[in-house]
Amino acid sequence: MRHGQGFSDLESHLDDLRRRHMYRVRRSLEGPQGREVVVDGRPLLNFCSNDYLGLAGDSRIAEAFKRGIDRWGTGSGASHLICGHTGAHVELEDALAEFTGRPRALLFGSGYAANVGVINALLSIGDFVFEDRLNHASLLDGGWISRATFSWFEHRDTADLEGKLAAIEHEPTRKLVVSDGTFSMDGDPCRLDELVELAQRRAAWIMIDDAHGIGVHGVNGAGLVDPARYGTTDVPVLVGTLGKAFGTAGAFVAGEEALIEFLVQRSRNYIFTTAMPSALAVATLESLAIAKAEPERRERLAALIARFRNGSRELGLKLMPSTSPIQPVVVGDPARALALSRALEARGFLIGAIRPPTVPEGTSRLRVTLTAAHRPSDVDRLLESLKELAVCTSPDQTTRSGN
Ligand SMILES: *Cc1c(COP(=O)(O)O)cnc(C)c1O
Repeated sequence: MRHGQGFSDLESHLDDLRRRHMYRVRRSLEGPQGREVVVDGRPLLNFCSNDYLGLAGDSRIAEAFKRGIDRWGTGSGASHLICGHTGAHVELEDALAEFTGRPRALLFGSGYAANVGVINALLSIGDFVFEDRLNHASLLDGGWISRATFSWFEHRDTADLEGKLAAIEHEPTRKLVVSDGTFSMDGDPCRLDELVELAQRRAAWIMIDDAHGIGVHGVNGAGLVDPARYGTTDVPVLVGTLGKAFGTAGAFVAGEEALIEFLVQRSRNYIFTTAMPSALAVATLESLAIAKAEPERRERLAALIARFRNGSRELGLKLMPSTSPIQPVVVGDPARALALSRALEARGFLIGAIRPPTVPEGTSRLRVTLTAAHRPSDVDRLLESLKELAVCTSPDQTTRSGN
């Protein structure tokens, strides 16, 4: 871009996005997250949030947040290494370590910051990073920023990954395999057993970002990386986020003492940023306690997921191989995804159209998400509307055929 000439380049880029139905607008909600949200004065059933346990609007967590402010104030004043670190952060880190069955956990301001911060700290020039083609943008950015040699492997394709690891078998440098636990836009799980076996055989580390699994999957909601089955030698680096199932904000990395101390010393996204407010840590401690004490939230959610999938099958809708709360309906073309999203809104549903670059070209979709706050009748109403709108997808419109 040339400077000193105004923003005409940017304006033509925006025009191009509009022409291709890729222009995105932010909707302003007029109240808290929940089963129903108010947009432009109209109540809509919310089928697109990641508030999987229905906790983002929970009054007990809000009360804890207020108590946290009374105790700790609002801002933390500085980074963790200067004077922003408090007993509330320590308590939450200890609780998250226990929750994930790992020696230690370290808080980050967001999942995005944690992913970039971890990969960039662990790797540098001469090292190797291997990423699933559908990994979250923050994992990809971390790999690129680290300046390690970056390789994709095909989505959930461990044979493809194996070939790539074999090709650098004799390199003495660090190798890191990175994958979403549950893929954020498809809802399918990574092949964790195969990844663990392969990484051990090929002397690579594994990093799993369980942003969508933590709180949702597993007996106690500990996530896809079940502590009863996978230790820190199996999955050395585990990332979880707090803004989805736990209904607050922030993220954490859990692993061995040496990993965590290394991140404290070396992760730029940990060092050069203001610590999360302590009150937020207090609120998150409350959500963690609720997530553990109320397994019925996970049970309700599982029943809603089954209800949606069964109903969709009866309608002839083609769904992704997902047993998670993420149930995308791929329609292919961005204009069609947008039109369907608008038609659903006219019928009282809030479901965003997910388009490139968030998903590969040709796989635009309605990313339906279910939460424990939904009622079975909400799911039935949604299915009824999908039927009326004749939302059917052809078999070739899967992400696997994407770029
Ligand atoms: C949402 C998400 C993130 C980012 O987490 P934030 O806390 O929202 O920054 C990271 N990874 C995955 C897989 C996600 O879905």
